[in-house]
Parts: sequence; C-alpha cells; structure tokens
Amino acid sequence: MPAPAASSDSLLAILERYWGYSSFRPLQREAMEAVVQGRDSLLVLPTGGGKSLCFQAPALVRDGLALVISPLISLMKDQVDTLVANGVPAACLNSAMAADERAAVTVGLREGRYRLLYVAPERIAGEGGGWFSWLLSTCPISFVAIDEAHCISHWGHDFRPEYRQLGTLRAQFPQVSFHAYTATATARVRQDIVQQLGLKDAITLVGSFDRPNLLYRVLPRATIKAQILQVMSRHLGEAGIIYCPTRREVDDTSAWLREEGFRVRPYHAGLSDEERHANQDAFLNESTDIVVATVAFGMGIDRSDVRFVIHAGAPQSLEHYQQEAGRAGRDGLEAECVLIASSADFLRWREILSKGGELTEARQALLRDMERYAASVGCRHKRLVGYFGEVYAKDDCGACDYCLGELETVAHPATLARKILSAVARVGQRFGAAHVGSILRGHASEQVRSRGHDTLSVFGLLKDASVDEIRGYIDQLIAHGFLQQAGDQYPVLHLTTEGAALLRDPAAAGTLSLARQRKPEKGRAPRRSKAEAESWEGVDRALFEELRALRLRIARQRGVPPYVIFHDTTLRELARIKPTTAEALRHVYGVGTRKAEDLGAAVLAVIASGVGDRPATGVGS
Ligand code: ADP
Ligand code: ZN
Repeated sequence: MPAPAASSDSLLAILERYWGYSSFRPLQREAMEAVVQGRDSLLVLPTGGGKSLCFQAPALVRDGLALVISPLISLMKDQVDTLVANGVPAACLNSAMAADERAAVTVGLREGRYRLLYVAPERIAGEGGGWFSWLLSTCPISFVAIDEAHCISHWGHDFRPEYRQLGTLRAQFPQVSFHAYTATATARVRQDIVQQLGLKDAITLVGSFDRPNLLYRVLPRATIKAQILQVMSRHLGEAGIIYCPTRREVDDTSAWLREEGFRVRPYHAGLSDEERHANQDAFLNESTDIVVATVAFGMGIDRSDVRFVIHAGAPQSLEHYQQEAGRAGRDGLEAECVLIASSADFLRWREILSKGGELTEARQALLRDMERYAASVGCRHKRLVGYFGEVYAKDDCGACDYCLGELETVAHPATLARKILSAVARVGQRFGAAHVGSILRGHASEQVRSRGHDTLSVFGLLKDASVDEIRGYIDQLIAHGFLQQAGDQYPVLHLTTEGAALLRDPAAAGTLSLARQRKPEKGRAPRRSKAEAESWEGVDRALFEELRALRLRIARQRGVPPYVIFHDTTLRELARIKPTTAEALRHVYGVGTRKAEDLGAAVLAVIASGVGDRPATGVGS
C-alpha cells in the first residue's frame, strides 16, 4: 500500500535533524517523493550528487524496513557507520561479518529495530539465499533501493552477474516499490536497468552531469614526473588519486613518490587481497594521502575529501574518465582533475583491446571520443556534459584550463597544420612523431642527418616551437583525423584522406583549431578556480587544521574513517564561523542533532582553546 504523500517539509525536517543539511540538492526532493509515494523510480545523478540520501531520508519517513542492495561490502560498512553516527538505525548483513555479529543483526531485525538494512546482491541470489529470503519475508519491507544499479547491465562499465538475480526480488515482493540509483548516464544502460529490474511505470530522473566544483585540465604528456609533481605541489597534505594505465607504472610511480617523501600506497589487481585492503583502508582512514592505482581502484572509495585526481595516461573512454575523475570533490568543495595524455596512450589501448579480441566498433568509437576530448580546444565542462547529451549553458565555466586562459589557440591553424602534414609527406610517411618534430624544429640529429632530412624544404619550418609543443600539435591532428599513427614497434605517421585533402586545400581544415599551453608567467601559480577561492573565504586555516586533527583522533578512537565524523565542508564552515555555543553549533552545515550532542563539546573546546592565539583570518594559499 502506498504511504500517504509526505510533504517536502517533513523530508526537509529530517535532512536537517539527522544530517544537518538545510536544503535539497537538485532532484533530491523529486527522488525522495517518489520513494515516499511508493512509485518505482530510477535516479541518475553524477557521483557526489547525493543519491544515497534519496533513499536514506525516505526510510525515516516510511514505516517498515528499507532494503538497500549495495555491491561492495566496504562501501556498505561505511554507509552504515555514517548513518549510525547520525542517529539513523541501520545495519548490514554480509559474508564478511562474524557469526555473532550476524546473529545480533538478525535479532535486531526480528525486533524491528532498524529502518535500513544493507545487503550485497549475492545474499539475495547465492549461498544462504533460502534462509535469507525467509528472514526477509518476516520483515515489513517498505521499499527496495538498488545502489550502483548499472551493475545489472552488460552495457555498463561494471557488470556484475549477481545483479541479474535481483529480478527475483521483485517476484518475492510484488507490492513494494523498487528504486534504482546510478551515476551511469547512457540511455542503453538506463533502459536495461528498467527492464532487468522490472520497474513499472517508473519515474525517471536524470540530473545534470556537470560538476562545477571540479577544475579540469588536460596536459599533453611531456616530462611526466615533473607534471605530476607540479599538480601535487598545489595539494600538499591533501588527499589524491593518481591513475596509471598499467600495474608496472603504478608500482614505479608509487615507489618514486615515496622517495620524494609523499605518504603514498599502490593499488592494483596484482597485489594480494590483504595488501589491497590494507592500502584502501589506509586511504580511507587518512593514514595515507595518496593512492597510485589502476582502474581497479574506485568503487567503494567513499572518501569525500579527495582534492585531486591525476590521470597519468588517458583512460579508454569518457565514461571511464568521468567516473574516475568524479571521485574528486564529492564533498562539493573544489578539486582538480588533470589528464596527462598523449597519442601513444590510444595506440596502446587499441593494441591491448585488439589482443583481447575486444576492439569492437563500439570500443573504437569510445576511444575516439576520449582522444578528441584530450585534444579539444574549448571549455572542458561543456565538452563533458555535451558528451552525456546535455547542453551547457554558461560561456565561461571558470574552472577549466581553457576558460582560465591556460591554453593559447594558434592564430592560423590551417597553415600550421599544413606545415606539419607536409613534413610527414616529405619523409614518405615512414617516420614517427619524434623524427618529424626534429625536422620541423630544425634539429639536425644524427638520425635526421644520416637520412639527409636536414636538406628538406620543411627542415626548420617551426624553428621557434618546443619539442612538447610540436608533439601536442601532432596529437591534436591525430585526434582530429588528419593524421594517423600505426606500426607495431615504432609508430609511424601517415596522412589520412582528410589530411591529404588539407595538404591540397587549406579550406579542408574546416573549423579546426589548434592550441598550446600558455607559458606560465615566472613565479606565478596557476589561477585558482572561483569555487576554491570562495570556499576558503574567511576560513581560519590554523583552526581548520586543528579541527582536522581532532577529527582524526575521534575517528581513530572509534575505528571509523574520518569523513564519517565530519566532512571537510563542515570543518571549513566551523573554522569560518567559529561557533562558541551549542546552539550556534547546531546550525553549522553537516551538524545534526546527534552529532551536536555527541561531538559538540570536543569541537567547542578546540574552537575556544585557540581564540586569540591564531593569526588573523584570511584567504590562505
Ligand atoms: P552519490 O551517492 O550520489 O555519489 P552521496 O550520497 O555520497 O553521493 O553524497 C555526496 C555527499 O553530499 C555526501 O557527503 C552527502 O552527505 C552530501 N549531501 C547529500 N545531499 C546533501 C544535501 N542536500 N545538502 C548537503 N550535502 C548533501
Ligand atoms: Zn571551461
């Protein structure tokens, strides 16, 4: 029986009371109302969009027990810890728990003590399924929420066979509503979810995929270590993830960063389970700041204060990029996502995929889209949301390399392109980018001289350009389809049909634009995004650090990750407002009733201890 419609006022009161939030994020109200009204629904919001709250808050409005299906045990535990810390009665049941813990939860269920129960899909499908399904049948299930619902689809990037069994749940509970949640936006995955789960007349809500707090940059790969260090120097002491394409690169990069003095751990599928878990936990409980990882690291990373994500190599699709980069800034505060890419990355992907017999048309197309993004000259936010079918309304996002003026477009792209294409043609389309670059720069290397290429008319045609700059143009021409790179051991540049046409006629360049990195003015740090400047506005940095230390102490005592105690957003707000009374504390973002009671005294003590001793408040850097 559908519950009576709760007004958004009562939902808002719940947000305020348990979570300390004073407003809905986009689509949260609609999504929560669907749950309260018992109408099947599908909610698509980007990572960090606030999907979890959309089933957690209604679970407190509706009678009975909300059943939450969640794919990862680690994720489940964090969510339950966070709920309990906020005073929401919740529990989980999974195979990692000891028998007595499970028995305690079973008793709690029989007594109707919980509002939410988290379980993994294999509980429903696999071993012990019979017993579990009996247990569920004794519970007053109010609704079923399926988190990471794209795992049900072959078309998703994270298919899990256990999810396919969830259709049977529907048969077991024909009268309760089902609600699916995902961050994967493609239409195909969406349809698949609706079909596989048997959602009926579902309300589909698709949010904006823009993440305004993320600052996107793309760097053509040059000296990668220097590039990584430069990004990291903007985030000292902050949490970050560095994605590398292979395990070996993960190992090398993490060893090197450790030597450089960073607290860093590797993560990839080649490590033992034990080591992988230890490293992930170290990251979650802040005993390490940085994880260097392959794509194996991701789901279940709920740490919300990740301030930077570096891709040392391009991923194989924009979906992957969006997922991985999206792990930054889940708390809504500014974070930086840097993609360091070169055309070699794409060659390598084609090789890997074709070896595995997976280089289908679809995969090729996904790769090409990624390649174009890396070489594009324009607003990154606009590009990314455009890829997911959304129109970006703003002209200047204020948070990407293009809009911040870090890219310099070339005045006569067709002319420049033709110079490069003609060098490729002059060497008979039998040489790679490095060789062609040397010729254009007029660098008479041994290789160049021995082949007499220093006498070509194109020799020295781009005398003033740097190695990296020419490399960047070549990559852009490849991405735009004027050049092609092929060859097993040694990739050789060819003209494509379009490239040959452009060599004959400059008009064939169409709307081509080419860009290079603008040289930074000496001694000047790159501009910060507007969001970053704003969110540090008025924050007492010294107090912020003291509160961070307090958070870490409490988290260690309780054996939970620090973000379960408070998010950075809350710490900044505290260090800005500096509340001195319990009442004032209650109005700080992210402080609900339970947390105010539980942690208020400790927080107020830290704030009181230093008033007057700290340096004047200001926007630090
Ligand atoms: P998702 O599951 O979509 O990736 P989460 O549910 O983990 O996102 O939410 C991301 C962060 O935003 C969490 O820290 C959450 O507490 C916070 N959040 C969610 N809804 C709100 C809100 N209405 N106001 C403020 N913060 C919110
Ligand atoms: Zn922009």
